[in-house]
Amino acid sequence: AIFHQGDIRDLDFLDTVFASENFDACVHFAACSLVPESMEKPFKYFDNNVYGMLCLLETLKKHQTKMIVFSSSAAVYGDKKKMPITEEDIPSPTNPYGESKLIMEKMMKWADMAYGIRYVSLRYFNVAGAASDQSVGEDHRPETHLIPIVLQVPLGIRKNLVIYGNDYDTEDGTCIRDYIHVEDLAKAHLKGLDYLASGNPSDVFNLGSRKGFSNLEIVKTASDVTGREIEYTFGPRRPGDPARLIASNHKAKEILGWIPEKGLDEIIRSAWEFHQKHPHGYEGDN
Ligand code: UDP
Repeated sequence: AIFHQGDIRDLDFLDTVFASENFDACVHFAACSLVPESMEKPFKYFDNNVYGMLCLLETLKKHQTKMIVFSSSAAVYGDKKKMPITEEDIPSPTNPYGESKLIMEKMMKWADMAYGIRYVSLRYFNVAGAASDQSVGEDHRPETHLIPIVLQVPLGIRKNLVIYGNDYDTEDGTCIRDYIHVEDLAKAHLKGLDYLASGNPSDVFNLGSRKGFSNLEIVKTASDVTGREIEYTFGPRRPGDPARLIASNHKAKEILGWIPEKGLDEIIRSAWEFHQKHPHGYEGDN
């Protein structure tokens, strides 16, 4: 593959990339994706995510690239009472990040109607874990995601973690999320491409495991996997967080033939192996 670095909102840049090859399809990952940041800086999300999507769709139209696999999010759903969430449930985001992803989905719908650009929108639930050979894993600056933060405690990078909120309407009072392994996620994209290449219509799919784990259960599992005590304290709720997000994955199974193969233990174990090998991320490798 050839790597071109540029800004998704730069039409000239996109034009150059799309003129360099005849692309059959586009897999669109480029976006901001942090719930708390989006609550503080909503315009950043409408600019980079929504306007970025407009630039991309214009480019796809111009260069006649008629298939797109899109990274959507469970954040489009918002605070649902009934679990697991199905694709039929009406989206109602509780933060600008989820709102931006929902708008991006709608833009693709109308691009399909008008220009025949078909899409598969993959609504990711919580993705974590690392490549089985530890070559690729999470390295965000700053880190905000639960599993890498939890693992920073046994790594000795932080003394403890703060769990945001223990007064949610859940069994132990902490938020519940549905985790999938990044390698299972990657496979779903290939299935999405095959689905579109076979001429199927645009559609939306949840990517989750149908199992929910509370933030406290994540800490407990990480403690079991690493064999270390993990200290935590409770802090206030993080604005924009829904209490529960658990996916029905029935549709992805039936239509794409996708089932997540790796469970929470394996997700945390692979992340732990990666972080032990790269305690300071990729930069520390040099
Ligand atoms: N979380 C937490 N402490 C942290 C980071 C995250 O309690 O230091 C919680 C967060 O409030 C949410 C869950 O962990 O309930 C998952 O958050 P994350 O940012 O990993 O993913 P999100 O669900 O926002 O996509």
